[in-house]
Parts: sequence; C-alpha cells; structure tokens
Amino acid sequence: AIPQRSPQEIIDLRRRHLNPSLSMSYQQPVKMVRGRGAYLYDQDGQAYLDMVNNVCHVGHCHPSVVAAGQAQMAELNTNTRYLHDNIVEYARRLSATFPEELSVVFLTNSGTEANDLALRLARTYSQAHDIIVVDHAYHGNSPTMIELSPYKFDGKGGQGRPAHIQVAEIPDDYRGRFRRGEADVGPRYAQDLHRAIAAIHARGEKPAAFFCESILGCGGQVVLPDHYLKEAYATARAAGAVCVADEVQVGFGRAGTHFWAFETQAVVPDIVTMGKPICNGHPMGAVVTRPEIAQAFMNGMEYFNTFAGNPVSCAMGLAVLDVIEQEQLQNNALQVGNAILHGLVELQKEFDMIGDVRGMGLFIGVEMVKDRHSLEPATEAANAVIEYLKAHHILLSTDGPYDNVLKLKPPIVFSMDNAEEFLRCLRDALRSIA
Ligand code: PMP
Repeated sequence: AIPQRSPQEIIDLRRRHLNPSLSMSYQQPVKMVRGRGAYLYDQDGQAYLDMVNNVCHVGHCHPSVVAAGQAQMAELNTNTRYLHDNIVEYARRLSATFPEELSVVFLTNSGTEANDLALRLARTYSQAHDIIVVDHAYHGNSPTMIELSPYKFDGKGGQGRPAHIQVAEIPDDYRGRFRRGEADVGPRYAQDLHRAIAAIHARGEKPAAFFCESILGCGGQVVLPDHYLKEAYATARAAGAVCVADEVQVGFGRAGTHFWAFETQAVVPDIVTMGKPICNGHPMGAVVTRPEIAQAFMNGMEYFNTFAGNPVSCAMGLAVLDVIEQEQLQNNALQVGNAILHGLVELQKEFDMIGDVRGMGLFIGVEMVKDRHSLEPATEAANAVIEYLKAHHILLSTDGPYDNVLKLKPPIVFSMDNAEEFLRCLRDALRSIA
C-alpha cells in the first residue's frame, strides 16, 4: 500500500523530489483524498465545495465515467493503428456537437498538444508562419505554446514577445479602451487585428492563424463583446489566416446557452481545440477542423501520437458526452450560472469593492477594485476572499492581469443549493474585509 503521510511530510517530499517551480494553492495547502460531485474531501473527511475544477466537469469521480474507464482498461488499451469501435464512435459523437463543416477530429493527450497540433495544421494549410493572439491569453505549456501565450511570455520568467507573434488588444469592455454600453464595442476592438496584420506584412511574412479563447480565462473571465469574433475572423481570413477557437476552459456545455462558447458569437471557427473537461480528469485533448484543413497534412508529414485516442480515453470521453446529455448539465450550467450572476449583481449593490460581474453559464468573473472610477485593482482583497472562503470550505481561485478577478468555474453539476451557499459565504467574506 502507498504510505499515507501528513500534509507537512508531503510538502517536504515535494520539495525534495518534485518540480520545485510548481506552486501550491493556499497559504496552508490542503491534502485531498477523495472527490464526489462538486465536493473534495480532505484527510479528515472534511468536505470542500469545489468552484475551481473545470476538469472534473460532470462531477468528481462520476460513477459512469469511472466505470467506462475501468471496463475498457480491463478489456484492451492500445494505439490507434488498429481498428477499434471506440475511436470512430467518439469522433462521430464529438463532431455531431459541431456545425456540419467541422467534421474531422484529431485526438491528443492535453490542451497544449491540441493547440500545438492546431498551429501545425494552420501553418500547413495557410503556408504562412506568423500568429496573432489576444493579450493575456494562455494556450499551453510547450515551448511553442509559451510563445503564443502573453500570460507566460510577459509574465515571471518570460522572455517577451517573439518576433513572429502579434498581440491583439484584449477586448475587455470593463477596463479597456472601449466600455460596455458604448456602440460597436466588439467590432472596434477587432480593428486591432488590422494593426497586427500590418506588422506581420511589414516583416515580410503572412499570418497563419488567429488564436482566441471563446471566453477569455487567464485574461480575467472576459466575455467577448458582441460581434468581436465575427469581425476579427473576417479580418484574419481576408489576410489568409486560419481562425482557431480555444475551448479548453469553456467548452462542453459550460457556457450554458450553447455547447461551444464560440457559438455565442455566431461564428464558425476553422479549428477548435479542447481539453480539460473532455474526459472528466483523464488526460485527453482534441482538435476538430474542416476537411480541407485536415487534408493539408496529406501532402506532408503524418500526425501520430502514441497514447492519443486510445480505447480507454475514448470510452471515458463517450461517457462524459452521455452524462452531459442524460443529466442535462448544459441546462444546469445555464440555470445555476444565471442564479449566481443574479446573486452577484445584488451583492455588487452592497459592496463597492465588486467592480464588475460578468460571465456565461458556469464561467463567471467577479472583478474586485479599490475604486469604481479609477478601477484600481483590489488584488489583496480578492486574495483575502479566497482565503476566507477556504477557511469556510469553499475552493475558489483568482486570475486576470492584476490577479483581482474571482474566477468561478465549478464542475457543471454545481447545484442551486451550492450557489446559495457560495453567495452567503461570499457576502460574509466581503463583510469581514470591508
Ligand atoms: N488553453 C487554455 C485556454 C487553457 O486554459 C489551458 C490550460 N490551463 C491550455 C490551453 C493548456 O491545456 P493543458 O494544461 O491541458 O495542456
């Protein structure tokens, strides 16, 4: 049996034998031993309401997903050069959730691998090299994806923007140049792609792709203003670029009104990448694209990935799709998300510290400020809220360029009771620090 150690012993062993750069959550990290639904349990059996985990999408250790993995693991697990039912059934079911033209599926093992593959597809198809990304975006941990991630290359240990990357202004209608309520906010932000494309042309290059999350995560839970993607995609395509929607954080029904968050912008991307929730915690990622883009690989290098698309991953992915449907979790995300948004708007009337409330379904941001006019970020207050909630057994994180945005992205089985508990505790937290 694996020895059961105290939190301090685990911290000491991590320091000695594990990646020393990996940070831990909270001043006093928690040892979790079990998960169920929207809850995690520590070594003393204490329950914590999980509002951080957008990976265990249909609930921690969902019995149907676990059973699907266990059964397939006991039967066969091998690579995709043999014929197998699971992978074709998964590709069929996944592509059915997309607009018709997005019909070809590539499987990977993570969101990073999905974005790396999307980049390779885009470059092969467009025969171009340079890339446009949105400010503060994160697209993955590989050297290539760090180059595409302002969140990393402009952050601690980063080496700045590489010459072949152009950064489009973040369409943040709370803090940015154009504000919510003004006319044509989305299209006006999208204008910045013209500047990015001109900069690429000035280097003697062409744009291969425009990468954009369908709701901005690391940028601070920023909902794209209406018509942003429509305008940005038109501009990018006119310059020969392929449009990539990164749905790693926001896909699979989380947005509530739609299964894919890009659908809320009334666009059809050329490539969609996904990961995190796809297998409820088992590692898998995917790329879905148009046949003509997939065909571009036929004249060049084969794509093969040892573990990707194996029968176990596909069985678990299928179980996730079934559970979302059977338990009507997309609708749950919509209803519970709306109730939380409503409760937060009420709290905003009571607490000046809440500068902005925004989101879709169960992907919500609460931006904390010291002053509603200067919008000075209340980073310490946001972190004090996180620690208060943790002491009251609710897990929540912060994000955004100033780390002052409370980031709500719980498993989408989050219930109305969970929402009420959270709102009650958040009010207490805000009172305690006001
Ligand atoms: N894209 C986005 C938007 C992400 O949030 C992440 C992970 N945080 C990734 C890509 C990379 O996914 P992974 O960690 O599975 O490689």
